[in-house]
Amino acid sequence: MNACPELETLLAVVAEHDADALAHIKTCPDCAFVAEQHRQLEKDLFRLADPMPPVNFVQSVMARVALEPAPARVELRTGFSILAVTLMGAVLAFVAAHGNLGLLGTRTASSVVTWRNLFYAASEALAAIWSTAALPTVVAMVGLILLSTLGVRRLAAHRVVEARVRP
Ligand SMILES: [Zn+2]
Repeated sequence: MNACPELETLLAVVAEHDADALAHIKTCPDCAFVAEQHRQLEKDLFRLADPMPPVNFVQSVMARVALEPAPARVELRTGFSILAVTLMGAVLAFVAAHGNLGLLGTRTASSVVTWRNLFYAASEALAAIWSTAALPTVVAMVGLILLSTLGVRRLAAHRVVEARVRP
């Protein structure tokens, strides 16, 4: 077995595919180990200098983008539309309650001759319902708003967790 060459000499001649050096590496595990390490390091350095994207790079990026949570703008828009629908529903329920009240008022006021009396009767009934049902109505509206905003937040959090869990 030949004596081990200097490290620099060994690596230089291996890079040049020197026959003597290659023959020595085949018989000397120490130099083979060093040469192999050098080869791996060189490969890593080339990879760092010029990172080749994987074949399915675009597909994987698009998959990740699809899994990412919607931008804040879209979330805000969704939240506001849910809020608007909720408020509209609350207002409609309120109006419906008033409509029933108006019908009731019209029935009770059918005997009233003048429009002014009818108006007063209706407004008195409205005032009565508002004074008795104002608090429950407000509480229900606030509860609906809170539920809708919490729903949006939970939806967003769920999408974030989904995006993190999937590879
Ligand atoms: Zn050697």
